[in-house]
Amino acid sequence: ESFDQMGLHENLLRGIYAYGFEKPSAIQQKGIVPFAKGLDVIQQAQSGTGKTATFCAGILQNLDYNLMDCQALVLAPTRELAQQIEKVMGALGDYLKVRCHACVGGTSVREDTRILQGGVHVVVGTPGRVYDMLRRRALRADSIRMFVLDEADEMLSRGFKDQIYDIFQQLPPKLQVGVFSATLPPEALEITRKFMNKPVRILV
Ligand code: AMP
Repeated sequence: ESFDQMGLHENLLRGIYAYGFEKPSAIQQKGIVPFAKGLDVIQQAQSGTGKTATFCAGILQNLDYNLMDCQALVLAPTRELAQQIEKVMGALGDYLKVRCHACVGGTSVREDTRILQGGVHVVVGTPGRVYDMLRRRALRADSIRMFVLDEADEMLSRGFKDQIYDIFQQLPPKLQVGVFSATLPPEALEITRKFMNKPVRILV
């Protein structure tokens, strides 16, 4: 199967090919379409399998580009990973003119606030800074429809459980959720039970 057969927008396909991807990896073959259809998806996959592009493509396919509000929130365990995801999102969504921003600790809160006020479609961040921006109302949650937890097991083992729950509480009730995790320990399963609605489970 190819990216062409997934029913993705022309300009998303252009971004995917321009980034250098020719064929979808196994996880992308199984995961892009269900997520793009709006389903809740649990994907159990190691890093290095192409999971980033899986949820980026699903998000990019469903953004309303005329609306300059944050519609998708991605949480990742480390600053480096969040920044890397933000780059991939921006590159794949280049022809869609997506606006995304990485909200991570160790950077200026004032600068984050300024960028968020300028309008972004997607925020990728670490739980601490994202929660801080929500609490300050610098990040408005009203239009968020898609929520992705990347490396959920890693976030839990770094002690982010309470912050993830606090963030989830601030998000609108009608929310599509994607959970990506190499392993599914009990705490991760608890998250999937509390946050997700009839999730599709994909193993790679
Ligand atoms: P990830 O698991 O998302 O961290 O991706 C691991 C590596 O595989 C990254 O360097 C990606 O750029 C690369 N990659 C992901 N999907 C594809 C693809 N369909 N074709 C070629 N390389 C890919």
